[in-house]
Amino acid sequence: MMQWSLRRQSSWIQLAGHQGNIQLGEGGEVLKRFNEVEDSCLQALMSDPLRRFVPRYYGQIRRNGETYIRLEDLLSGLKQPVIMDCKMGIRTYLEEEIVKARSKASLRTDMYQKMVKVDPTAPTEEEHERKGVTKLRYMQWRDSTSSTTTLGFRIEGIMMETGVVLRDFNKTKAKSQIIDALLLFSNRKVLILKAYLSRLEELKETLKESAFFSSHEVIGGSLLFVHDHTGKANIWMIDFGKTTPTLEGVHLKHDVPWVEGNHEDGYVIGLNSLISLLREAISE
Ligand code: ATP
Ligand code: MG
Ligand code: MG
Repeated sequence: MMQWSLRRQSSWIQLAGHQGNIQLGEGGEVLKRFNEVEDSCLQALMSDPLRRFVPRYYGQIRRNGETYIRLEDLLSGLKQPVIMDCKMGIRTYLEEEIVKARSKASLRTDMYQKMVKVDPTAPTEEEHERKGVTKLRYMQWRDSTSSTTTLGFRIEGIMMETGVVLRDFNKTKAKSQIIDALLLFSNRKVLILKAYLSRLEELKETLKESAFFSSHEVIGGSLLFVHDHTGKANIWMIDFGKTTPTLEGVHLKHDVPWVEGNHEDGYVIGLNSLISLLREAISE
């Protein structure tokens, strides 16, 4: 028993987000730092057609004075899992973040430094002088250097079977770069790619039936791809920390461009891109 849990712990990995935000619980479940927005989304999702695509939600738990959301561990049952986190949507910031940034634009040195590391020419002269950028400026820049703005999703990270973690996808923007990443991630196994493709097609159909989806702006959400060498492959919707209900009676299309005020997230634009890139990878 001991050995089993040690092994599980060591193969468990948090690909995106602040390290330490998420940990493995004692019962083998995943604990994510509590966030009210995410908690209420997960509750609503448990009785939506989308529940087949979402980790099971077991409510909240207190641990060392902190509250956590308890979730099904999506890596459970996989042998040496291979994982990819794709952040969905044509933007990764909320409209209210733009409003906030306009009124109170505090400068972030950490984000300036991350920006310079990827592209020293990206900051403006003024930003260089201040050694800081606003959070909104950083997120808009991140969205435009990656495939977010053009394809409606970006790769956040990949963990290979060996445990090697790849997070250097900041400038992965061209379709050919993404196909290469998909081929690397799947080790060119057509069966795995086909399993992913059919799961995405099912997701696309289910999204059409989902009352949750039509009434939520899904920002910063990911699709988590997981497979192993036995051929198990699955895709899950995760990360609802910025998924916001629309105003009463407002239904989003999710497949049209965003203009400020329409709240469209382009989630289905990203899904369609992923489907067509997977098809291309399969025919390579
Ligand atoms: P960010 O907002 O920066 O993307 P976050 O703190 O909101 O991050 P998530 O995106 O929800 O965190 O999760 C981060 C990572 O943790 C995922 O990329 C995945 O590797 C892992 N993870 C999250 N939920 C689960 C789960 N239920 N089962 C297995 N792994 C998970
Ligand atoms: Mg995330
Ligand atoms: Mg998040």
